[in-house]
Amino acid sequence: MTVDLHLHSTASDGGDAPADVVKQAAAAGLTTIALTDHDNLDGIAEARAGAREHGIDLIPGSELSVEWTGGAMHMLVYFLEPGPGPLQDRLGELQEGRRQRNLRVADILGDLGFDITYDEVVEEAEGRGIGRPHFAAVMVRKGYVRSIQEAFDLYLGAGKPAYAERVRLDYLDAIALARASGAVPVVAHPHTIGVSADDYAQAFRELADAGVMGIEAHYSEYAPEMRRHLASLAAEHGLVATGGSDYHGRFKPSTSIGRGRGDLRVPPETVDRLQEARSRL
Ligand code: AMP
Ligand code: ZN
Ligand code: FE
Ligand code: FE
Repeated sequence: MTVDLHLHSTASDGGDAPADVVKQAAAAGLTTIALTDHDNLDGIAEARAGAREHGIDLIPGSELSVEWTGGAMHMLVYFLEPGPGPLQDRLGELQEGRRQRNLRVADILGDLGFDITYDEVVEEAEGRGIGRPHFAAVMVRKGYVRSIQEAFDLYLGAGKPAYAERVRLDYLDAIALARASGAVPVVAHPHTIGVSADDYAQAFRELADAGVMGIEAHYSEYAPEMRRHLASLAAEHGLVATGGSDYHGRFKPSTSIGRGRGDLRVPPETVDRLQEARSRL
């Protein structure tokens, strides 16, 4: 059994259509995957059909940007079903906030002297779930930077000249809405939550008390010691240690499905632990 619980498709800023993500996951021998596009569930139906075809399990999910005491944080929500619901009904405003942010980024890039139009970015994203990686890809294509990573490092990353904030849910609201929708909230890639590794224990205590049910310990970018450390902190705080590659296809060429940067291994029992968390909602 092989598992990958953090995958993006063309429904947001991944490079491959949901059906292709599933097809590749099946070909790589994965047995359970979660599709976790940013702020939407638009790829779930297609992914689910693909999963059925290939005989693998699909957990519907999404990745939200939320505001918390440490600043911004990404929150994965698992078992969130498309259709109406407490959290589902709020996704539209997040998408609108993203659109407003994207228009501002396009303006800033123009002010910085780049010949990049919003329409070109929309085209790069094939019109769906537009995000910063699409801006980055246009900058690469036009020769302004050598790689998507360089576009983030120089312009699009937090604190860089073309960075713009966008509307986020408060983490307490996101947790409550997720749980009320039957979804399990999990802290994504904890190195980005604005807390130094020394303070993880305290942060995870606070988050667990607030209703978070897991943390993404087995993340592609972490060294084995960090994954073990995060998994043991998760156990200490009664949290599920989840994991995934954060696959984005051509928008993140360093990362592959199921294997991350080569050595990712998400323990298969993670799926059972997540199901148990779901049954405690
Ligand atoms: P957005 O949701 O549009 O703000 O874009 C977020 C996505 O951009 C993340 O999921 C990553 O794929 C990518 N990203 C964010 N920060 C960085 C960074 N510093 N370097 C590379 N990619 C990044
Ligand atoms: Zn992304
Ligand atoms: Fe993320
Ligand atoms: Fe992600």
